[in-house]
Amino acid sequence: APSRTTDGPARSRLVVLAGPTAVGKGTVAAAVRDQHPDVWISVSATTRKPRPGEVDGVHYHFVTEAEFDRLVDAGDMLEWAVVHKVARYGTPRGPVDEALSAGRPALLEIDLQGARQVRDSMPEALQVFLKPPSWEELVRRLVGRGTETEEERERRLATARDELAAEPEFDVTIVNHEVHEAADELVTLMTADPQVRP
Ligand code: 5GP
Repeated sequence: APSRTTDGPARSRLVVLAGPTAVGKGTVAAAVRDQHPDVWISVSATTRKPRPGEVDGVHYHFVTEAEFDRLVDAGDMLEWAVVHKVARYGTPRGPVDEALSAGRPALLEIDLQGARQVRDSMPEALQVFLKPPSWEELVRRLVGRGTETEEERERRLATARDELAAEPEFDVTIVNHEVHEAADELVTLMTADPQVRP
């Protein structure tokens, strides 16, 4: 039977959402943001440039290489990684601790390298793998986004192929057939008793 701690403040559940590139992690996280304001979603820092429509402090904290270095050196990153060989992304640690201490279920939408770091440093976090309905669908989504160059797209597809193989490392898999259903499934997991693993 799952053990339950009775001492200490009730910390809410930390959930990591990872999965291959272009599977729709960002879209699912956005749906959670819209439909479930009770869920706290981490805002990552990144050294990449904003895409049209992205707002600093909302989608990401857009920082310089020097600012990113400073955050890492100060120990302020819960995890960080170079993604697609082009930019660094990381989760600022303080806000995550504050959300959990305040009893809010907290969501990190990060890549596989980051998910592995969190597995080591916070093994109590629930690790969720978001999977495409099929490889063909993943390719279609990646091409359909149309925001990357040909070379960049090839690089992301190669990364995605490796990332799909990581599914067994995760506690739970959600298949992203439809974004709102995937978001609801995720929130159901997030708001379940944090002491009980599915
Ligand atoms: P994009 O540039 O398309 O917004 O994101 C590219 C990738 O970076 C996605 O796979 C996303 O999950 C990942 N990512 C975003 N924020 C973080 C973070 O804080 N840490 C890590 N490790 N990956 C992140």
